[in-house]
Amino acid sequence: MRIAVLSDIHSNLIALDAVLASIGTVDAVWQLGDIVGYGPQPDAVVERLVELGAIGVRGNHDAAAVGGSEIEYFNVDARRAIEWTRRVIRPETVAYLAALPERLVEDEITMVHGSPREPTWEYVTSVTIARASFAAFATRVCLHGHTHIPAVFRDDRGTIELVTPGHGTTLTLDERRVLVNPGSVGQPRDGDPRASCAVIDTDRSEVTWHRVAYDITAVQAAMRAVDLPPRLIARLDHGL
Ligand code: ZN
Repeated sequence: MRIAVLSDIHSNLIALDAVLASIGTVDAVWQLGDIVGYGPQPDAVVERLVELGAIGVRGNHDAAAVGGSEIEYFNVDARRAIEWTRRVIRPETVAYLAALPERLVEDEITMVHGSPREPTWEYVTSVTIARASFAAFATRVCLHGHTHIPAVFRDDRGTIELVTPGHGTTLTLDERRVLVNPGSVGQPRDGDPRASCAVIDTDRSEVTWHRVAYDITAVQAAMRAVDLPPRLIARLDHGL
């Protein structure tokens, strides 16, 4: 079975569709939260996920979009984008986002947005946080997003290794426990503006990362048309 692992789509339908076209046929789509926020097409992204039968979890932007107090912790641009999202999304989108769980275990794989210790907010960005995270889930593999940076933390008999995957990097899933971050579909922040995602091949026990170019200019035009903050529009060019 091939599973698309998508995180931080952030209302970027054009990036999502480019990723789906590029990775080819998959048997399942799993998403790790922050479906909305920042970008211009929240309803259309949720519709696409429904069409695909995606399963997944809620991110901090999803919670904020449906009225959560998470918005209080956002910077001015993120807040403006969520306030716009709140105004425009359809009731079906609200219902979809509100129903997402914080944590999901599927096929013995854990899914969270931030970290297994603190699914909404914590960023797994260091060996210290990764070590604490390994104590907070029971499966061998935990998928998470939130940082917008592709990464793997692997527990090799107590030593935590960090791998930074690029396009085409393949990780073999063996007996060692791993925290796997596919990177962000809709707003990459590792200096590479291409959309990022991962595909799990359960027959081969492998995860492969993909970077996919998409029409950034079209997304920026859509953002401008609804008056989203200029800084959010500009950052897509740089992947930062
Ligand atoms: Zn995000």
